[in-house]
Amino acid sequence: MLWQITLYSTQKICYFSKNRLRMFIMKSKRNKLPSKPKFKRPSWDEYFLSVAEAIAQRGTCDRGRAGTVIVKDHQLLAAGYVASPKGFPHCDDVGHQIKKITHEDGTVTQHCVRTVHAEQNAIVQAARNGVSIEGATVYVKMTPCRVCAMLLINAGINKIVCAMKYHTGKESEEMFKKAKIQVVFKNNEVEKYKKQ
Ligand SMILES: [Zn+2]
Ligand SMILES: [Zn+2]
Repeated sequence: MLWQITLYSTQKICYFSKNRLRMFIMKSKRNKLPSKPKFKRPSWDEYFLSVAEAIAQRGTCDRGRAGTVIVKDHQLLAAGYVASPKGFPHCDDVGHQIKKITHEDGTVTQHCVRTVHAEQNAIVQAARNGVSIEGATVYVKMTPCRVCAMLLINAGINKIVCAMKYHTGKESEEMFKKAKIQVVFKNNEVEKYKKQ
């Protein structure tokens, strides 16, 4: 009697007698055949940052099209993306509404003020649905701006996980430190877009 075996490594079909098969198995055990690669589940941070990235695709301003999810006990409480208030024109259709800010050291930065930021929209969604976000973790594309930082502090957020850094995020970082909110950067790169 011959045994039909498909080899995992080559997908080749081989025929073995009982004795040859026994010898083949012993040899295989000695040579340790490569095992099937194990599926790697994403970590919680990777999981929620990828959800925030998917949500960001609904954003309507290409200056850092961003998404946010607010999470507690590994459960998603609220989400938001950068967009104009309901019924107002979108940057992608009518262009940005740029305002310049002169900082204490004389440097000037440009900001689009047409939109409600992703973090703000997530907080608003929680408020509209009556969901408490106190003690929650927020996942964002980049360091929240000063206004979002103030709102997140007052909302009682515990931790902020950023995929990367925002070019004027230093002030927010200092505010979070003062408010004892943990901030984690998955990447120290700074998000780049035109006319920063
Ligand atoms: Zn815009
Ligand atoms: Zn913001």
